[in-house]
Amino acid sequence: MFRTPLLFAAAVALTAPAFSQTPIRITADLTEAPRKLYHAEIDLPVKPGPATFITPQWIPGNHRPTGPVSDITGVVFSVDGKPITWRRDDQNLYEYHVEVPKGVTTLHAHLDCIVTARASDKIAVLEWEKLMLYPANIPVRDIAIQPSVTVPAGWGIGTALTPAGAYDPNAKVGGTTQFQSTTVEQLEDSPVIAGEYFHEFALAPEISPKHYIDVVSDEPDDSNLRPQLLDEISNLVRETGAAYDSRHYHVYHFLLTLSDIAGGEGLEHGQSSDNGVGEKGFESQKGQLGEADLLSHEFTHSWNGKYRRPYNLYQDDFSKMQQGSLLWVYEGMTQYLGNVLAARSGLKSQAAYRDMLAFSAAQLDYKSGREWRPTEDTAIAASILRSEGPAWSNWRRGQDYYQEGELFWLDADTKIRELTNDKKSLTDFLHIFLGKGGNTGPLIVTYKRDELVADLNAVVKYDWASFIHDRVDVVNPHADFDGITRGGYKIVYQDHPSPSIAAMMKSGGRRGGGGPNVWYSLGLQIGEDGTIRDVRWGSLADQAKLAPGQKIIAVNGIAYDAKVSESKNDENNSNWLVKAIEAAKTSKDPIHFLIQSEQYISPVSIDYHDGMRYPAMVRVDGTKDYLDEITNPLAKHPTPPASDTKEDKDN
Ligand SMILES: [Zn+2]
Repeated sequence: MFRTPLLFAAAVALTAPAFSQTPIRITADLTEAPRKLYHAEIDLPVKPGPATFITPQWIPGNHRPTGPVSDITGVVFSVDGKPITWRRDDQNLYEYHVEVPKGVTTLHAHLDCIVTARASDKIAVLEWEKLMLYPANIPVRDIAIQPSVTVPAGWGIGTALTPAGAYDPNAKVGGTTQFQSTTVEQLEDSPVIAGEYFHEFALAPEISPKHYIDVVSDEPDDSNLRPQLLDEISNLVRETGAAYDSRHYHVYHFLLTLSDIAGGEGLEHGQSSDNGVGEKGFESQKGQLGEADLLSHEFTHSWNGKYRRPYNLYQDDFSKMQQGSLLWVYEGMTQYLGNVLAARSGLKSQAAYRDMLAFSAAQLDYKSGREWRPTEDTAIAASILRSEGPAWSNWRRGQDYYQEGELFWLDADTKIRELTNDKKSLTDFLHIFLGKGGNTGPLIVTYKRDELVADLNAVVKYDWASFIHDRVDVVNPHADFDGITRGGYKIVYQDHPSPSIAAMMKSGGRRGGGGPNVWYSLGLQIGEDGTIRDVRWGSLADQAKLAPGQKIIAVNGIAYDAKVSESKNDENNSNWLVKAIEAAKTSKDPIHFLIQSEQYISPVSIDYHDGMRYPAMVRVDGTKDYLDEITNPLAKHPTPPASDTKEDKDN
């Protein structure tokens, strides 16, 4: 079934089913989003006799079997309004068996889905696995389906689906909107967001195909995005043209929810992306730091992940396991490019790019699980590593293929620049690998590792197979800092956080919060209330036999209180623990703790005198500054950078 990567004739066309057939008709009813219930009415073309229908299990982009089968309720199959019996398959719990009566050509199905996230009084997000039902054991690209979506009156709808008639999203009429027929594979790839406070904005108007951002929010004003932010997102559209030299969609919609209620998200699709951040996630230039690479990451997936798909991650039907061994490319290269393009577009400054890269590189270098688990194994095991808790997570080593991949591709980028005396860069590789076949509509073209090696060699001859093997397949006790070093910088540990990290922690939100950062000093990750979330294997805290779940209740004889300082997330001087670590620098005494473990309280001493340690990146004089070169814009931006971006630059 899987094609050799270069045989483009074998690529999978997504826009039209391979044979003509009556489409399934599905109407998704989102009007009860405030009650956390979605409904579907589905007409299934059938022949008399036994038939099996199925709902999606392995969700593309999630890389896991997250199809919400346990939330699908109220299932009724009927003919002419009369219910007919169904029975769930004993082994595949996503399958429903029915016997279609003689003379029947259309079977009706009704189902509900209990929606546990991304729905509120003002917002509804539909990823179609919540409601979609279709015949089992047929490639999903071969099943035609015609969708309609019903939302409350006055709500707007954002989606990359093509409306069947004239449609103005900003008119916000609500009710039922019909869309053109597509395939089950493509519908699964085409989410819908809807909301009372809705705005659609056109982006980079000079570029074809067209790009839009559709925004819904809990509060009336938030969905009206700042002009500077819209300029930056338009710049992002321009930067992808320069970086990837191709587009693989007929239209692209960034779908964005701004809500503290509906929850966060970042899910890629070929012609859209489903992005969810807090209500104020993009409110200001400084405040958006924690989310600055979200849109650029998910957008990049349209090329790297959706168009170019690892051969074993692509399955022709959602009941088959998606295999993750190449996620260090799918996610890792996207992590690298998402951050680079965010900086090129002005969504974050070059200084912020370096601060955050330093933060991430240090985390990897201090990840003790790297002593036993190679990066490739974090990818192969991806589907069992997503939702584990923080306890001993550094020893488990989670989905590091994201950040390890980022360092890997920075290493490759700087290596190409060095080998070619700056004549070429990773951009040349991206033009080949992501631009193969030129501009296309939505398409999946699979690849194997051999193709990466061949395309890298087409840019510059080198032993790329070993380069990959040495960094991905084997245990490496230290993170790959070669790209940072070759880029003209080094990682250091200093007594204060870098400006962007301090700002991000202070702003809270999805990526802030928690207690002071004593990971690189004592070896502890602690919550705001002093609860130990994780202990770094091999650290002083580990040697003192501290454990996740315990709670620090006193430090040097003083009750632990995270709230002693006004700004408890100000990592410079946040609480008694930080004060005690600072004081120990000039004292011979160990730091004394009282630790609560369930109902037991015991004293623990840690003999540590090196002060607070935060990772940062510093310039190595006399070397080439590749990092700034890499994050300089490639495309022309019509709007000059606004003044607050400039300020950020100096941080
Ligand atoms: Zn991703």
